[in-house]
Amino acid sequence: MSNRKNPTRGTASESRFSVMEFMAEFPDDDACLAHLWRTRYSPDGEHALCPKCGVERSFHKYSNGDGRQSWTCTHCGRHVHPTAGTIFHKSSTSLHLWYYALFLITSTRCGISAKQLERELGVTYKTAWRMFNVIRNSLMSQDNLTVVLGGKVEMDETYLTRQRRLSDGPGQHGRSLNERVVMGAVERQGQVVVKYVPAATLIEASRLARVHLLPSSTIFTDEFRIYDNLEGLEVAAHYRIKHSAKVYVDGDVHTQTIEGFWSLVKGGLRGVYRSVSTKWLQSYLDEYAWRYNHREFTPRIRGVKRVPVGEAKFRLLLALAARPVR
Ligand SMILES: [Zn+2]
Repeated sequence: MSNRKNPTRGTASESRFSVMEFMAEFPDDDACLAHLWRTRYSPDGEHALCPKCGVERSFHKYSNGDGRQSWTCTHCGRHVHPTAGTIFHKSSTSLHLWYYALFLITSTRCGISAKQLERELGVTYKTAWRMFNVIRNSLMSQDNLTVVLGGKVEMDETYLTRQRRLSDGPGQHGRSLNERVVMGAVERQGQVVVKYVPAATLIEASRLARVHLLPSSTIFTDEFRIYDNLEGLEVAAHYRIKHSAKVYVDGDVHTQTIEGFWSLVKGGLRGVYRSVSTKWLQSYLDEYAWRYNHREFTPRIRGVKRVPVGEAKFRLLLALAARPVR
């Protein structure tokens, strides 16, 4: 029998954390603030380590004149602000809207535009864009620094065209100044790392490999000469697919995984974001890498109900948001 108060959710991995579930768990600012308080300081909601006393004390909620809420040590009176140091700190946007923005961003597969965020949140376009920008730059960019790839790794580059402006000269064909080069590496069945680079060069290719690939990696690329230097790197092997001879897959030798990621990025940028300024291109790439890297965030454990990927992503982003930003 289905329960109308607790509807059965689709079991597909695509199944999301619904907006009703979100609202039930985070109905207002207070609920979001309490969540931050518990996540950062007080698992039981009442006891926390007092920075002044240096020991665990009980705290009670305190609201000052301007409505800013904190928790206060019942022993020494020290205030602890759950938002201190996080992306929410000193924001004029309510915590509830921030949480809702985090929910919206993780509940879409290909991204959500600032325009859509503006409509959903009921804030100005500028505010929506800024919130999204902070989420991308402060929360989703960390993978780009820390990801290490091993095993079978495909490397490739792609070109993203900047949208033409009226001020641009007429009729440019082929690879022009408007093309921006993006290089990436992906571990098969693993994570991806993606960088906006000034040009497709030997130096950029070997830098990417040196920083993000384990020496035990086997690299797959095409024949483009920028990958020539990889032979000199300490890697297990380097195989190259002969695209010039119209060969795209030769057994294990192909770059289809990274090409799949490129089409995800290009489709998203074209469909959702339309035009992306060069200044923020890396942050959009980081967002797609983040989505890709956490596409299978939840482990499959026999006999245990699997957390849907959408919900797991939301909770991961919430956990990242509950940390102080550098
Ligand atoms: Zn104290």
